Amino acid sequence: MGNPKGFLKIEREYSKYRPVCERVKDYREVAMLRPEKSSAEQSSRCMDCGTPFCHWGCPIGNIIPEWNDLVSRGHWDLALKLLQATNNLPEITGRLCPATCEYACVLGINDDPVTIRENELAIIEHGFKAGLIKPQPPKKRTGKHIAVIGSGPAGLAAADQLNKAGHAVTVFERDDKIGGILRYGIPDFKLEKRIIDRRINLYKKEGIKFVTGVNVGVDLSVSKLKKEFDAVCLTGGSRVPRDLKIEGRDLKGIYFAMDFLTQANRRAAGVKIAADQLIDAKGKHVVVIGGGDTGADCVGTSHRQGATCVVQIEVLPQPPECRPLESPWPKYPLLLKTSTSHEEGGERHWSILTKKFIGRNDRVAGLSCVKVDFSQKDEKLCPIMREVPGSVFEIEADMVVLAVGFVHPEHGGLLEKLGVGFEARGNVKTGQDYMTSVEGVFAAGDMRRGQSLIVWAISEARRMAHCVDKYLMGESRLPTI
Ligand SMILES: Cc1cc2nc3c(=O)[nH]c(=O)nc-3n(C[C@H](O)[C@H](O)[C@H](O)COP(=O)(O)OP(=O)(O)OC[C@H]3O[C@@H](n4cnc5c(N)ncnc54)[C@H](O)[C@@H]3O)c2cc1C
Ligand code: SF4
Repeated sequence: MGNPKGFLKIEREYSKYRPVCERVKDYREVAMLRPEKSSAEQSSRCMDCGTPFCHWGCPIGNIIPEWNDLVSRGHWDLALKLLQATNNLPEITGRLCPATCEYACVLGINDDPVTIRENELAIIEHGFKAGLIKPQPPKKRTGKHIAVIGSGPAGLAAADQLNKAGHAVTVFERDDKIGGILRYGIPDFKLEKRIIDRRINLYKKEGIKFVTGVNVGVDLSVSKLKKEFDAVCLTGGSRVPRDLKIEGRDLKGIYFAMDFLTQANRRAAGVKIAADQLIDAKGKHVVVIGGGDTGADCVGTSHRQGATCVVQIEVLPQPPECRPLESPWPKYPLLLKTSTSHEEGGERHWSILTKKFIGRNDRVAGLSCVKVDFSQKDEKLCPIMREVPGSVFEIEADMVVLAVGFVHPEHGGLLEKLGVGFEARGNVKTGQDYMTSVEGVFAAGDMRRGQSLIVWAISEARRMAHCVDKYLMGESRLPTI
């Protein structure tokens, strides 16, 4: 513990962002990297708790108090080693994780929690800047071949772990570039794509093979896959979007969030889109349906494309600003989040149900909505949604983005041909050993868990890699977390 009184003397330093007027004109990251000196100071706020709840709150079991201590005393290289022992992509979680650990931090009981996420980012970025991160290919190869299908955070973490164990890993990706939602979902203003490329270059030097533009199950047959590989890891994500099948849904100008965001990321990367395929918010009254993080990314993207106005609506009531009684510390509470995209403008409204889309000349022109109330509860104490009488109103919209979640992975194609089983929600079912109903075929990440978080994708992938290694070798030294 670098400074036993650090938490008494030093206040939490909140994240800093580029000015709104500047950042809405480009797609560069809005968050500013904190100077190392500040990170060392912030790390010294850690109390090195006997029972570190931050560790309990982290799905990958990051060894937080230890690396906080090391950073506060300037031992960046040792902190890096500890961080890399539990996290394959700290430069990604350090930027994008909702930091469930911070909600569990003991200091958070009566003070502001330690800035764990930014400390993590500081350690990994120091590692890259100081040249401490070098390719480390395994010393021995096992002769086993593994196919990882899908290159999102789950696929990348699984490939890294299995390569470390000495297996020959090939990652297949149907998109033209590696990264999954990190590449074609999350906007550049949250994660510049050079950060993904830096990691992929390292993985390539360590011996992982990446094959893009191959839709496994279509371009590469399942029989060939099974013949050429000793084990298969399914990390294809959960991409079937939830739809809003109401009157007017067929009108032009209504898009799924991922179609909008994927194209926007391609455009930010300099790809030209044919005029008849373009989804562009420029000069439009944009309504984003869905109040979650995906919706927030659509708000920020719409601003950057030059929307005239952006309104985000959500059917659920506005979440509380402070921890509710139902989610006491150290649980992760559902709180009102004001993202950087919300700071950039637009309106947000809660408790609004969209009843129908209003059209003009085959295009969407507005939404007919009604206010809803959740104050009454059923016999199981679940809130009942009730339309407020006389509250019907319209919102003008010439572009609507549906960001109302994802139902499950795509069942057709690869999964159908493999014949894997599904659980009740439609995600790929596995045993505790992460193996699907098909021998030698494993699954992890959103494909197994449903749409979730990057840190959970990494956590699942690490556990799956341990099981795959054990399946192939009889035992495994890969960590189980
Ligand atoms: C817009 C958006 C923003 C988000 N923001 C955050 C955030 O800020 N923080 C956070 O923690 N989480 C965020 N999430 C959630 C997070 O991105 C996901 O939980 C995570 O990416 C899941 O990782 P994955 O590897 O399981 O799947 P994915 O990232 O979905 O990757 C799956 C990959 O598999 C490929 N694939 C599928 N089938 C095949 C096949 N047959 N052959 C070859 N390739 C195939 C797909 O093309 C895709 O590239 C966000 C999600 C969305 C949609
Ligand atoms: S709970 Fe907070 S104060 Fe305690 S060890 Fe973890 S980061 Fe440090």
